[in-house]
Formats: sequence, C-alpha cells, structure tokens
Amino acid sequence: MNKQEYAIEPDFSPEKRFTDIKNKVEPEFWRKKKLEQMNKTEWELLCDGCGKCCLNKLEIKGKIKFTNTHCRFLDCKTCLCKIYPHRFEKVPDCRDIDLRAIREKPRWLPKTCAYWLLDNGFDLPEWHPLVSGRTDSVHQAHMSLQNRPVISETGIQDYENYIVDWKDL
Ligand code: SF4
Ligand code: SF4
Repeated sequence: MNKQEYAIEPDFSPEKRFTDIKNKVEPEFWRKKKLEQMNKTEWELLCDGCGKCCLNKLEIKGKIKFTNTHCRFLDCKTCLCKIYPHRFEKVPDCRDIDLRAIREKPRWLPKTCAYWLLDNGFDLPEWHPLVSGRTDSVHQAHMSLQNRPVISETGIQDYENYIVDWKDL
C-alpha cells in the first residue's frame, strides 16, 4: 500500500456535512425519529466526529476497557478517518456503526457517542455539531480525541499497558 492510498479522497469532506443543513434535514430530526427511521443523511449527521470509537479496546471480564492507542488510520488532529471510503477493505476489524453495533453488549462505543445516547433515551449534548451548528464544538468541549495523550497502534504489543479510564468513555 503506498502513501497516496492513505490520503483522504479529494472530494471527501466530512466538515462539509453540516453545510446547508437546513435544506438537507428537518430541524431537530433526532428528537422526532427513532434511529430505525432515519435516512442515510440523518444517520451520517449524527456522528459528532469525536474519533473515540477508533481507540483500541480490550474485553476484560465482560467489560470493555479503552486504551489510548488508536487505529493507525485515524488523523488525531481532525479526529477523522484518513481512509473513510475504504475503511472496511483496509481494516477488517473496523466496525460499521449500525443498530447491532450500537446495542452490542458489553458497550464498546463511548458513552458520549450520539448513536448510543439517542438509542438509550438521552438527548444530544449542547456541544454536538447538530445542536451547536459548528463542527468544532466537539473539540472545544474536549469531548474528542483532539489534544489528548493518544498514540498510534503501530508497533504496540501489549495493549493492557495502555488502558485508560477517561470519564467520557
Ligand atoms: S464515537 Fe460515535 S459520535 Fe464519536 S466518532 Fe464514533 S460513531 Fe461518531
Ligand atoms: S479505519 Fe475504522 S477504526 Fe480506523 S480510523 Fe478509520 S474508521 Fe477508525
């Protein structure tokens, strides 16, 4: 695989997901529909871009433990996947966020994940881009991986040494 293949595709811009949002979706659609009823546009807009689902995890005694190591394809500055359109081809254990994944036990999505929150009867937090109207509000609220002590999984052998107990996981 050469470096070029790692690059985000030129026409792929998750930041633009929230541009012109009024013409794409109904206001506060997440309060009116269940996850099962959402269309693809609505579903994609729910992701707050925190990047925390791309941390490596261990299952220990029936509980998920997050580590501060992240998938090698995560860009920690933007908290976006560098290979988003090709992630399932290139990373066999990259998970699609579908209803099954959201409801899986033990929970492996962070407790701030919008999909998990809505599915469990909570509203979106004020820092969610859909509520704030700004993609960077998740970073400014310190709810993303931006500026956290995380490292790439490349070369990591013993993940147990990297377990973290952050409150928002
Ligand atoms: S944890 Fe949830 S909200 Fe955060 S990036 Fe992953 S899917 Fe999106
Ligand atoms: S390949 Fe999957 S796990 Fe890796 S950064 Fe992309 S979305 Fe996250």
